[in-house]
Amino acid sequence: RTVYVNGDYLPENEAKVSIFDRGFLMADGVYEVVSVLGGKLVDFDGHMVRLDRSLAELGMATPDARGDLLEIHRELVRLNDIGDGLIYMQVTRGNPGDRDFHYPPEGTEPTLVLFTQSKPGMIDSPMAKRGARIVTVPDMRWGRRDIKTVQLLYPSMAKMMAQAAGVDDAWMIEDGFVTEGTSNNAYIIKDGRIITRALSNDILHGITRAAVLRFAREAQMEVEERSFTLDEALAADEAFITSASAFVTPVVEVDGASIGSGAPGPVAARLREIYIDESLKVAV
Ligand code: PMP
Repeated sequence: RTVYVNGDYLPENEAKVSIFDRGFLMADGVYEVVSVLGGKLVDFDGHMVRLDRSLAELGMATPDARGDLLEIHRELVRLNDIGDGLIYMQVTRGNPGDRDFHYPPEGTEPTLVLFTQSKPGMIDSPMAKRGARIVTVPDMRWGRRDIKTVQLLYPSMAKMMAQAAGVDDAWMIEDGFVTEGTSNNAYIIKDGRIITRALSNDILHGITRAAVLRFAREAQMEVEERSFTLDEALAADEAFITSASAFVTPVVEVDGASIGSGAPGPVAARLREIYIDESLKVAV
């Protein structure tokens, strides 16, 4: 692969970042993942708006290359010949030259890294067809989940718990309510209404979530942005998740119990189709 590091396009084994980088020592960094379909970037502007917000919330400098990010994404798609896949982008607070809890002085250049992941057949993923099986785990993350930081140890632990349970993923529970999935937003459908937790510091403000809710409202579906409990999920007609990489993926089982018929439901299927069709129309 050819990757991007601080202005250079390099073979991945020649790309280097300092061991003192704040991203490495302190998880002091933020990231975005943009999906690529047919060589085009899906919802690129939405991801860049959220990047700016993450940087602002952490008082982190904007990389000099901010204005070139579209070009850098496109160049990586071209250099790596990506049809369908993902582009991962990370910005950290950079290299202060030593380990120190305090932020480095102003003017320390942030570290900007991007790389591609090729995923042929991403649209026809087997999991989208059969539906995901999930377990629930306590949400033990910090209190600013709205900032997309690279501090992903707990989500990784939760995915390992899901794997140990023999299922695909996990939803996280706090005070009896579902917050979100380990790397996706969580939804249930009851009596035709789409129910998903409202935006706050408790969850990531998914770019796919925003698009899917917009398309759902445009299609005259009813949307309720409110918290829901595990019991409500178990009694739901359908459930699904959204993320840039999973698009809309049905959830057919929670903690060993079937949701609805136990097969992917019609509303989730329709939303997936609308989301992919509409996103392709405006992909850049
Ligand atoms: N919640 C969490 C915790 C996530 O990690 C992600 C994906 N990074 C999402 C939701 C979905 O966000 P998006 O639709 O912007 O990919």
